[in-house]
Amino acid sequence: MKEIKHFINGAFVGSASGRTFEDINPSNGQVIGHVHEAGRAEVDAAVKAARAALKGPWGKLSVAERAEILHRVADGITARFDEFLEAECLDTGKPKSLASHIDIPRGAANFKVFADLLKNVGNEAFEMATPDGAGAINYAVRWPKGVIGVISPWNLPLLLMTWKVGPALACGNTVVVKPSEETPLTATLLGKVMQAAGVPAGVYNVLHGFGGDSAGAFLTEHPDVDAYTFTGETGTGEVIMRAAAKGVRQVSLELGGKNAGIVFADCDMEKAIEGTLRSAFANCGQVCLGTERVYVERPIFDEFVARLKGGAESLVIGPPDDASSNFGPLVSLKHREKVLSYYQQALDDGASVITGGGVPDMPAHLAGGAWVQPTIWTGLSDDSAVVTEEIFGPCCHIRPFDTEEEAIELANSLPYGLASAIWTENSSRAHRVAGQIEAGVVWVNSWFLRDLRTAFGGSKQSGIGREGGVHSLEFYTELKNICVKL
Ligand code: NDP
Repeated sequence: MKEIKHFINGAFVGSASGRTFEDINPSNGQVIGHVHEAGRAEVDAAVKAARAALKGPWGKLSVAERAEILHRVADGITARFDEFLEAECLDTGKPKSLASHIDIPRGAANFKVFADLLKNVGNEAFEMATPDGAGAINYAVRWPKGVIGVISPWNLPLLLMTWKVGPALACGNTVVVKPSEETPLTATLLGKVMQAAGVPAGVYNVLHGFGGDSAGAFLTEHPDVDAYTFTGETGTGEVIMRAAAKGVRQVSLELGGKNAGIVFADCDMEKAIEGTLRSAFANCGQVCLGTERVYVERPIFDEFVARLKGGAESLVIGPPDDASSNFGPLVSLKHREKVLSYYQQALDDGASVITGGGVPDMPAHLAGGAWVQPTIWTGLSDDSAVVTEEIFGPCCHIRPFDTEEEAIELANSLPYGLASAIWTENSSRAHRVAGQIEAGVVWVNSWFLRDLRTAFGGSKQSGIGREGGVHSLEFYTELKNICVKL
């Protein structure tokens, strides 16, 4: 049985209160370990350590020195690849084939990409005329924002946490991380990598616990944190934004979505089916960028529905260690309750269930896991909660459309604006439609193709701010203009 502690000021420490909670394996419902729950004392110790490290060793390093250390962090993750893989799959139940391809390598890449970026990015300068003819020069300099509170979700625990910690540290900040209580393992293991890579104590701190009235809320209420970067539900984002308003602290929010896929009759059907299958069912539908609303042009509607059904029914449900499985459980029984409530709602609202809609039969040793069937519906009205609310499960609703204008209107009809995928072989149409979609990320004939140099974030209620590439600098640094009169 594991004992999972906080990582504060370079050391693993338990909670003074002695309070712990269980970390559960969602494949079989068994307890993996006991996790210490941080109280205000631990939060305060972590923030103090982060502040001291900012003023001390970390703040005094050059960009090149920091970059070298962060490369060692990335290499350290790669060296412990199997341990990270095991930990992530224990916590989430996701197939090892998925986590070994996405979660762990991208988690390591987040340190290298942002370390290299910082070494190569310049700042603006402007010469200006003055009445005396001598002129002036303006130049910009950036400095770290300070102590950053990082609050991250459970769906891609290492990847989404390092997506924030990588650029934050590269820019010279220090961090206090609160991972989801569902997935404490990889953030903790990263502490060992930080120690071995020579990251000074206090630069990377991890606190375990829950959101409200626990570690998450205590962190957002702590007055000595300079900014918060958060990925999670829109409602939680609102709570964090309110807490951050005290002291006018900046927030970067990557929130929920209800993403639309638009499939035109001139698509390459093979590509559209393959991409929509991944976007609806990868990671058991627990990807913020996933497609839960699919709009298909009427002439190909029946064929598309039949082929997507075939694809969903060919997914192989099984635990992480089963090499043939490509579909794991949901993250917890609690989350399954939420997803199944939408499965029931779909029936109540008169949906046709094309496939799935329930819980699969699993062998006895897995019966306690959070398993759910991949599910496709048709026939719901546009105002059904199943079509308007984020479910965050392996399901989608497919609806026909007749014109390009109608498809765009449907895609834009909700208050979310995270991502969208368009399937067409007509490149003029692709550009025309992509330009009108109200979302931070639009894919054409692909899904989840990510270049870490590009801007990432949501519009409308899907978030505030953009991270990725140079855009991360806007949040993780302060920009100062120095004006020199000649
Ligand atoms: P939650 O919003 O429930 O939780 C996210 C994190 O916030 C967790 O660490 C949680 O702690 C913490 N938290 C919860 N309440 C508070 C609070 N009052 N104060 C401070 N921290 C708090 O999201 P989920 O973990 O359920 O993740 C799924 C959601 O994340 C989906 O809505 C999904 O769309 C979104 N998401 C968005 C992405 C994007 O890029 N836009 C990417 C990935 C996911 P704990 O879990 O311990 O309660």
